[in-house]
Amino acid sequence: MIIDLRSDTFTIPTEPMLQAMMQAPVGDDVFGEDPSVNQLEAFVADIFGMEASLFCPSGTMANQIAIKCHTQPGDEVICEFNSHVYYYEAGGIAFNSGCQVKTINGNRGLVTADQVKAAINPHDVHRANTSLVSLENTANRGGGACYNQKDFEEIKEVCLQNNLKLHLDGARLFNALVANHEDPKFYGKLFDSISVCLSKGLGAPVGSVLIGSKEYIKRARRVRKVLGGGMRQAGYLAAAGIFALENNIGRLAQDHDHAKQIAEILIQKEFVGKVLPVDTNIIIFDVMGRYSAKEFSEILKQKNILTIPISPTQVRIVTHLGISPKMVQQVINILETL
Ligand SMILES: *Cc1c(COP(=O)(O)O)cnc(C)c1O
Repeated sequence: MIIDLRSDTFTIPTEPMLQAMMQAPVGDDVFGEDPSVNQLEAFVADIFGMEASLFCPSGTMANQIAIKCHTQPGDEVICEFNSHVYYYEAGGIAFNSGCQVKTINGNRGLVTADQVKAAINPHDVHRANTSLVSLENTANRGGGACYNQKDFEEIKEVCLQNNLKLHLDGARLFNALVANHEDPKFYGKLFDSISVCLSKGLGAPVGSVLIGSKEYIKRARRVRKVLGGGMRQAGYLAAAGIFALENNIGRLAQDHDHAKQIAEILIQKEFVGKVLPVDTNIIIFDVMGRYSAKEFSEILKQKNILTIPISPTQVRIVTHLGISPKMVQQVINILETL
């Protein structure tokens, strides 16, 4: 038995999800005629109390479309140094939107309103036009850290005062919603656009959704086509997303509980240094002394536990729906022997 803690992208569709996919009514979504895609898009928009949404092949594409639709070439985008849109999207902000980026060094991937305010360029012919702020919740490289609502409201205020759009990379937003018992409509009111992943902890094989106003999503649909993301009978994939939203949100709490259980053992180990606080389903910790991060991952791999060394000293563990309580116990047992 392999226990794969590398990422929540490794989830495999369950039998009932596959059944839902096989029974999906489909049509040509580029013509707007796929009933399952239309159902998913209406469903997600409704969850957040927003007007419309767009089914995308990946979270990266959803973010890149979002940024393209909020900016003009030569603009500047404010985001955190470790944010996915900057760190993990292959230079896409420059490639797709022709924008440059101003990064903020946040705390566990989270930024404050004061930091955002200080990062805005003055209206000066020499300076790039700041037009967009992009936030991430939960913050992936911040160890699944969550914003509190007050910080979001303060950042929104700065955006309103400075005429900036506000995008949320909510790849793992449902983890934050569950962990903090939040209302998705709070997010729908605050953000100009939100991307959410269906293929992380929610367990769908493919897909993300970009959410926004009707007018914005109309433009986003065109950009998705330009990027080659117009899909035909995508309803088979959308059906997996609908199934995930109907069945797999509540159970994220179990992933969070599993992550806390594993972190508790790690903290006791003398070769483990700092363990970032575990807010959701991600554990990032420093390995020191006896092992490098790579060596530690290698030792676990020999015992059929897969993790990712994300830097020379840091290892990341992610819990998800493919990880059972029995597997968590097995991980704990093995950690205890090291
Ligand atoms: C996974 C992830 C994405 C999107 O990734 P894809 O692999 O393109 O679907 C975006 N933002 C964050 C924070 C992520 O963790």
